[in-house]
Amino acid sequence: MVNPSYISALQNPIFRTISKAASNLNLESYVIGGYVRDYILNRGEAKDIDIVAVGSGIELAQEVSRLLPGKPKVSVFKTYGTAMLKSGGIELEFVGARKESYSEESRNPAVENGSLADDQNRRDFTINALALSLNDENFGKLLDPFNGIADLENHIIRTPLDPDITYSDDPLRMLRAIRFATQLNFIIEKDSLAAIKRNAKRIKIISKERIVDELNKMLLADVPSKGFALLHKTGLLPYILPELVALQGIDEKEGQTHKDNFWHTLEVVDNISKATDDLWLRWAALLHDIGKAPTKRFDKKLGWTFHTHEFVGAKMVYKLFKRLKMPLNDKMKFVQKMVLMSSRPIALASDVTDSAVRRLIFDAGENVEDLMTLCEADITTKNPKKFKKYHANFQLVRDKIVEVEERDHVRNFQPPVSGEEIMKTFNLKPSREIGLIKDAIKEAILEGEIPNEYEAAKEFMLKKGAEIGLTIDD
Ligand code: ATP
Ligand code: MG
Repeated sequence: MVNPSYISALQNPIFRTISKAASNLNLESYVIGGYVRDYILNRGEAKDIDIVAVGSGIELAQEVSRLLPGKPKVSVFKTYGTAMLKSGGIELEFVGARKESYSEESRNPAVENGSLADDQNRRDFTINALALSLNDENFGKLLDPFNGIADLENHIIRTPLDPDITYSDDPLRMLRAIRFATQLNFIIEKDSLAAIKRNAKRIKIISKERIVDELNKMLLADVPSKGFALLHKTGLLPYILPELVALQGIDEKEGQTHKDNFWHTLEVVDNISKATDDLWLRWAALLHDIGKAPTKRFDKKLGWTFHTHEFVGAKMVYKLFKRLKMPLNDKMKFVQKMVLMSSRPIALASDVTDSAVRRLIFDAGENVEDLMTLCEADITTKNPKKFKKYHANFQLVRDKIVEVEERDHVRNFQPPVSGEEIMKTFNLKPSREIGLIKDAIKEAILEGEIPNEYEAAKEFMLKKGAEIGLTIDD
């Protein structure tokens, strides 16, 4: 079949500019990879476009800049032979067509100049090797040596060359295969899948940052479980998130079993992904049960227990983030807090008292809605009656949160009577008694004994002071 023209993909005037620049330099140029793939899949506006020049990519970038109004700055990456410029909110990446050869130890190949075909050979997947000509004689012509179009139509991830070589050369491609399968809801072709299994341990040579990049993209997909199930199936997961692998399996003792916490976790991640696009809340869902593996015990009376798993899990979050070189900042603390509190609203849902709700708001603070979202996603019962009941309970708790918060304002709790006032009233120096009284006031408010108001708190303070033998200084 004669390849159709994809001239409609090249409406943006920037492509004519690139074409002009290339012909000024007397070289061929093509748009390649993600842009072409996503155009055909109708995946919305592109933010980056990759251009291959048969010749110097850097020179082409400079010529393109010269032709553009305002002559945008060209960033040159000499070591990689690439250049980048921004035009109209789009990042243009330029590279010279190249041939690559790899060694055992590194994913950085030796590089020499090559043809467009050489360059397509070094691409990771057939669907990422599609190129559109920007040359005058066949502007818009599709160059598709591996029939990537058919793979796009059939939703298949396939490597252009022998998958064992493709994955062994650059093991990051194994994660990219799984990430694209997850994002696009594609299937990894079976020889490719087998090759990933065989090469899984080579993932060790990939930097943590690159791995986390791919994990984040998987987590941000519509149905992230697909990616994590594939990581599990291919044997990559033990190298990346062994904490999750440890959750897999069901033990039985004296006829009692517990649920498989790995598959449960994946369900929770899919559930939460319907409710939020927040990456860190999705991470919290992925990690909310990791403390269950090290805390699992069997007790004759209680059956299977996971005492303190939330606490242990929160500590594991820090270690995991550190190992994966993820940021140890407020995002990490947020995930820790979610893991630590991940059972709280569940316990609440059966008995929604005002004081329990006030304590929840007090402890979760500004994250109380996120916590509710996580805990509601945690409902994975297959019993339709229970499912309905649990969700109805969550609605009750949510309503109660609004009601209590309107009345009591404990979300960003500020003590209604200050330490200074306590000191002045009882003529005290900074001392243990002040802390005692402040705590007693906070407790009385959370328990609902007094409202969260100055007058009531002051009266309570005087009473409490008298109880512990303090006298008023007037
Ligand atoms: P996205 O931008 O959505 O992640 P993409 O396909 O554009 O998808 P990029 O990482 O931007 O991915 O890479 C651009 C192109 O470069 C890819 O389409 C592919 O052709 C090629 N490529 C990227 N990484 C690799 C790799 N590790 N091995 C081989 N080719 C790669
Ligand atoms: Mg891209």
